[in-house]
Amino acid sequence: MTPIEVYKELPRTNCGKCPAGTCMSFAVQLLAGTLSLSDCPVLDESSAKNIRAMLPDTGDWKEKRLSELLGEVRAMDLSGIAQHAGAECSNGHLKIRYMGRDITLGRSGFEGEMDILDKLLILMYLKKSGTGQPSGKWVAFRELKDGLIRAESFHGACEIPLAKMFERDAERFMKSLGAMGAEKAGGFSADYSFVIYPLPRIPFLVLLWRGDEEFGAECKLLSDSTAADFLDVEALLYLGMALVRAVRQWRAQEESNPQPTDS
Ligand code: SF4
Repeated sequence: MTPIEVYKELPRTNCGKCPAGTCMSFAVQLLAGTLSLSDCPVLDESSAKNIRAMLPDTGDWKEKRLSELLGEVRAMDLSGIAQHAGAECSNGHLKIRYMGRDITLGRSGFEGEMDILDKLLILMYLKKSGTGQPSGKWVAFRELKDGLIRAESFHGACEIPLAKMFERDAERFMKSLGAMGAEKAGGFSADYSFVIYPLPRIPFLVLLWRGDEEFGAECKLLSDSTAADFLDVEALLYLGMALVRAVRQWRAQEESNPQPTDS
């Protein structure tokens, strides 16, 4: 079962009435278990039935995978992992920067409240324990090792939702990126360019173009050419989706608690 198969059964109108914002993003998140069919309010019963028939009976795979990964990472040399991953290790605790926040992995698991998919991504990154540093060479998702098979999902689930958020309120969108540690980058033809590090060795280059009367805003999310050394492309797709979710959360936080502006 692939996101494209689910997508074909959806209304494909990108109406934005679900938390995913677009139909492709909805398909990917449905398969990841972060959304359910009832989150699409315009899905007719016959299509919902077809999708239900295709969905595998996964049980609580995320909890199971989390406990496996925690065991595997704990059995590894934490100070060695920290060195490769750009994290810090002290007294058996690992501190790592994720989406602009410091996250601590202690002996009994993660400290503080976190989405389970974020925990899984951090553990997969630590377990892969890639070596080296980002090359500084930016590539499209399809150019990564095995990236072609997930390139369309990456576009639908990451680039389109980011472009829509940017189009709705560019100032707030860029404030959210800034709050997550994104820095302006020069030398690109886009209207705005930022480099952001969702994980210490995995930067994304966010390129944004304003829309006009004819075309909507556009976003390209480029990866460092070494990204697949630190996470496989499936996990990189989920990392892109986690970035979208984190920007949404920062925006919601900012909306409910606006900071005074200089005047
Ligand atoms: S609610 Fe989401 S999945 Fe449903 S049609 Fe609209 S964008 Fe597509």
